[in-house]
Formats: sequence, structure tokens, C-alpha cells
Amino acid sequence: ESQLNPNYSFDNFLEGDSNRLARSAGLAVANKPGGTSFNPLLIFGGVGLGKTHLAHAIGVDIKDKYPEKTVLYISAEKFTQQYIDAIKKNNRNDFIHFYQIIDVLIIDDVQFLSGKTGTQDVFFHIFNHLHQNGKQVVLTSDKAPVDMQDIEQRLLSRFKWGLSAELQTPDFETRVSILKNKLYRDGVEMPEDIIDYVAKNIKSNVRELEGAIISLIAQSSFNKKEITIDLARVIVEKFVKNTKREVSIDYIQKVVSDYFQMDVDTLQSKTRKRHIVQARQLAMFFAKKFTKASLASIGSQIGKRDHATVLHACKTVDNLTSTDKQFRKYVEDITKKLSV
Ligand code: ADP
Ligand code: MG
Repeated sequence: ESQLNPNYSFDNFLEGDSNRLARSAGLAVANKPGGTSFNPLLIFGGVGLGKTHLAHAIGVDIKDKYPEKTVLYISAEKFTQQYIDAIKKNNRNDFIHFYQIIDVLIIDDVQFLSGKTGTQDVFFHIFNHLHQNGKQVVLTSDKAPVDMQDIEQRLLSRFKWGLSAELQTPDFETRVSILKNKLYRDGVEMPEDIIDYVAKNIKSNVRELEGAIISLIAQSSFNKKEITIDLARVIVEKFVKNTKREVSIDYIQKVVSDYFQMDVDTLQSKTRKRHIVQARQLAMFFAKKFTKASLASIGSQIGKRDHATVLHACKTVDNLTSTDKQFRKYVEDITKKLSV
């Protein structure tokens, strides 16, 4: 059993600047498994950006083109569990042998191996064997190899042998096409402005983007409500809020821009109009306060500014809070909204 999910294909993995490298490399690997320099192919990126989808798509496409090849998809977690079971049953050699005869091995979420020295060790041997025999290895991870913690050096260096391709957060156009494709496949019609609204407000996670659309459809059909911008607003708000344990920078920008009755694009724009600059500085201040993101990452998500700008914003907000009564009220109001 290959464990591949045929619903995850290249066809329904929409291409954009954010994923072009990873998607193209995946296609190249699928055309010539083991026969490109992308071995291993390591796809990395944040939660919900399509790593699992792409990993399956590669396997599905290979199975399609080379039915005789054995392709196996497995999560690193399941791989670890199997290994532990094999050890318990004294089957370590059988376990290794099973994996060494696979043509294409796809392991999802290899960050899970961190700290698991036994599993890393066995994977190291399997990897070497497959690689030496021209077999293809595809890996996914939530981090780039350089940022991986508690993975043995010799394994990390293997990860870097081939190609590491990042899945980045999709831009607006790509988000819109992902939504349209999903609606089309589900046979659902939705007004353009609603699709735009959802795509505009949910930026950092494709799973959430799809989730918001799914609950919008469900809400409207179960409650026999028309799909309106207002309904979309309610759902997006709940969605962005409920699905994150930590307040997200997207959510902060949305709350701050709603508070000042502007949209997120305005807040992020290059303008020097005072009230917009202040709104932007507040968003940066709250992002620093409520998330673990670095100054650089906050800056890049709030209108592509650098870390010095974010630092300056935080200081400005601190100063104004102690000198300007009206400004202090802004900070208090927004803090309340963010803390519900
Ligand atoms: P990850 O493994 O990175 O957390 P997934 O592969 O599970 O993310 O993707 C989350 C959801 O988003 C899936 O339903 C997937 O089909 C969808 N998705 C992600 N990227 C794209 C894309 N470029 N085109 C279409 N759907 C996508
Ligand atoms: Mg995944």
C-alpha cells in the first residue's frame, strides 16, 4: 500500500510565485524519479502551505507514469512508530530491508525526527542505501535544514545534498485562484467580492483559507442565508481568531485597521498620512507584544518594512502612550479587542 491520496494532484495544486520552485522541482522529480539532482527533494514551509499536498502529488504522479515503481508515502511520526514497534519485536533488520527496496520514499514532516536519535540513525542507513542505488527520496519539513533542531549533523548534511525548496505564503492572486478552483470543483458559485474579501483577509495558511470558504458555504446553506459581505466578515473574523492559539499578525492588522475604519492594504501602504502611519505603528507594536515573531518578520508582514522600522514603531507607541491621552485610549481599546 502506497498510502498515497489521489485527491492531492499537481493539477489541483495551483501555481504562484510562492510555490513555483517547489512545484516545478516536484514535477521534475516525478518525471524522472532518482534521475535528477534534486535528490533528496526537501520541501519546507509553514503550516497549511501545501507540503503534504505536494508530497502526495509527486507520489501520485510517479505511480501514474511508472506503475511498476514502488512508491511509499509516510509521515515521520508513523515511520518512528513503526521503527519502535520493530525494535520491540526484534525486527530491526526487516524494517530496514522493507524500506531499502522502495523506489520512491516520501517522508512527511521530518522535523518530527528531532531528538529521536534511534530513528534518525536507522533513517540515515536507509537514506544512504536508497541514494546510492539511485532511488528517489522526497522529504517535507516545517523548517529549512539550517533551522532544524536536534537532528544529527550527518543527516542534516544529507538533507542538503539535493534541493531545498520553500513553500512561501501565497500572494493575493494565488489565494484567489486557489479559492476559485476549490469552489469550481465543489460546484459552488460565489460572488467575486466575497472571494476577494476572504482572500484579502486570510493570508498565511491555505488550509484556513479553504476552511473559511467551507464554513461560509455551510452557514449560508444551513441557515438559508444569502452569502453577503457581512456574513463573510463574521466568519472570517471568527476564523482568523479561533484557529490560532496565538494571536496572528494577520488578525492584529485586521483588528487595527477595522478599529480605524480602513482596510489592511491602506494600513500597509507606503503613505505618510499621520493617522495611517499611527495605525501601522500600532499594528507593529501589538505584533511585537502578542506574537513571538521577530522584528524582521513583523516588518515583512506589515507592509514589507525592515526591523528598524518596527523597533522605531514600538518606541513611538510607548512614548505616545505616556504623553497622549487619545493615543492611550487607542491602545487600550485595541488591547481589549485583541484579548477577547
Ligand atoms: P501542510 O502540509 O504544509 O501543512 P497541506 O498540504 O495539508 O499543508 O495543505 C493544506 C490545504 O491547503 C490542503 O487542503 C491543500 O490541498 C491546500 N493547498 C495548499 N496549497 C495549495 C495550492 N497551491 N493549491 C491548491 N491547494 C492548496
Ligand atoms: Mg502536512
